[in-house]
Amino acid sequence: MTESNRIVIFDTTLRDGEQSPGCSMNLEEKLKVAVILEEMGVDVIEAGFPVASKGDFEAVHTIAARAGKAAICGLARATKGDIQGCADAVRAAPRHRIHTFISTSPLHMKYKLQMAPERVLEIVSESVAFARSLVEDVEWSAEDGSRTEPDFLCRCVEAAIKAGARTINIPDTVGYAVPDEYAALIAMLINRVPNIDQAVLSVHCHNDLGLAVANSLAAVQAGARQVECTINGLGERAGNAAMEEIVMGLRTRADRLPFHNGIRTELITRASRLVSAITGISVQPNKAIVGKNAFAHESGIHQDGMLKHAQTYEIMTPESVGLNKSTLVLGKHSGRAAFKAKLKDLGYDLGDNAVEEAFVRFKDLADRKKDVFDEDIQALVDDEMVSADQRIRFVSLDLHCGSKAPAKADLELVIDGAARQVSAGGDGPVDATFNAIKALFPHTADLQLYQVHAVTEGTDAQAEVTVRLSEQGKTVIGQGAHTDTLVASARAYVHALNKLLVKREKTAPEAL
Ligand SMILES: [Zn+2]
Repeated sequence: MTESNRIVIFDTTLRDGEQSPGCSMNLEEKLKVAVILEEMGVDVIEAGFPVASKGDFEAVHTIAARAGKAAICGLARATKGDIQGCADAVRAAPRHRIHTFISTSPLHMKYKLQMAPERVLEIVSESVAFARSLVEDVEWSAEDGSRTEPDFLCRCVEAAIKAGARTINIPDTVGYAVPDEYAALIAMLINRVPNIDQAVLSVHCHNDLGLAVANSLAAVQAGARQVECTINGLGERAGNAAMEEIVMGLRTRADRLPFHNGIRTELITRASRLVSAITGISVQPNKAIVGKNAFAHESGIHQDGMLKHAQTYEIMTPESVGLNKSTLVLGKHSGRAAFKAKLKDLGYDLGDNAVEEAFVRFKDLADRKKDVFDEDIQALVDDEMVSADQRIRFVSLDLHCGSKAPAKADLELVIDGAARQVSAGGDGPVDATFNAIKALFPHTADLQLYQVHAVTEGTDAQAEVTVRLSEQGKTVIGQGAHTDTLVASARAYVHALNKLLVKREKTAPEAL
C-alpha cells in the first residue's frame, strides 16, 4: 500500500449531519462526537458552519482548541466574513482547514446566486486566495458539482488550485448522479485539469437515490482520494454517504478496492450509538453495518449454515465493527462490574459518572422488571447519554388519570438551574403532561409526532417515546425511555425542547 492509495476520511456529521431535519446538538454533545471521531482515526473533522450562529462558532472553536491529530475544518461561503469567521474558529487546532464553496451549476448560478459564470469564476479565485492568506490548508467545493457543465467545472477547479486550494471537492449536492457517470466526471477532471496533480480530489455524495456510498466508491476507483461522509449516513434530506458503509466496503472488499484508510472500524458501533442517542434519530433495523439486524441471522437455513461455518452467510464479523457477542445476562443481583462489562459488550464507553448514573437507573429498572434485556440497557444508556448540560431537565412527574376524572399532571423541571413545579390538566395523561411542560416553559412549537415503542416484549417493558416538534420550519426530535410511558413521554418532550433551543439560534443552513 502506498500513499497514492490512501483515502482521506472527512467526516461531516457535525456539519452536514447536524443540519439535517430534526437534528441539532449543543456544545457538549458536539464535543462528545468529536472525541469519538478523533479516536476512530478520522483525518478531517468538519466541525460546523461557524457563521451559522454564535453557538456554531463556539462549538467549532472549542473542538479546534481540544483537537489532537485530526484536522479541524469549518465551512464558509465565498464571502470575506464567512472565511474570516471560519479561520478564527478553526485556528486553535494544530491542523486546521477552511472549506469554502460556491455553486457552479447553470441552475444554481442563474437562480440561487443570480451571477454570470465569469463572475463565479472570479469569486472562486478571490475566495480561495483570501482563505489561503489566512490558513495553509484550504478545500474548495463546487456546489452542485455533478450538474455543472464539464468545461466550466474544469476551469473552476483549475482556478481554485491556482489560487491555493489543496483539496477539490465535487459534491453530488442533490443526490442525482449514478456511479459510472460520477466516476467518469472524476476521471474527466484528472485527465483535463492541467494542475490537478497539486490537489486531492474529494467527493461528497447525497443519498436521495440510495447511491451515496456506491457513487463515493466508484469515484475512489476513478481517482478520488478523499471521501466526505457521516456516521449513520446522517445529513440533509436522505443523508450523506455513511462512513461505516464506506470503510467496511473498503475493508471487506479490499480485493476489488485496494485502498487503505486510518479508521479503527472496531469503534463504529460505539460511534453509531452515540450519534443516534444524541440526535434522537434512530437507525433503521435493516441499515447496513449498524442496524440492529445487520448481523442477525433468523432463517433456519442461515442459522444452520452459521453454526457449521460462520462465513457461509457472514461477510464481516460483528467484532470488526465493535459488536461483541454478548454472553452476560443481567438481573437484579448483577453488580457494577457485570454492568460495566455489559456496556462494553454493547459498544458503549461512558465516563465514570455516567456509568454510575446509568447503574443506579439499571438497578431501579431491575427492581421493576424481571428480565433486563440488552435492548433495555441500550434504551437506558442512550437516554443517559443525552447531554447533562441541558437548559431544561426533567425531575419528576406524578399523574392522576383514568375514566372518572379529568387527567392532572404534577410536574417538576429544572430550568436554567432553578427548580420549578406546576400542576396542569388535560385531555388524558399525555396532554396533561405536555400542558404542564408548556406551563413551565412557554413556547409555540407544534407537536408533529408522538410515538411510543415498546423496547422489549411484555407489559413491564420499557417504553421508548419519540417526540417531534416544529417551530417556524425548524424541526427537532427528542427521545426518552422509561418503564412508565408518561415519564418517557415527558423526558422525550423535554429532550426535543432542548434541541429546539439550540436550533432557534441558527440562520438557515446552506446545502452542499
Ligand atoms: Zn451535503
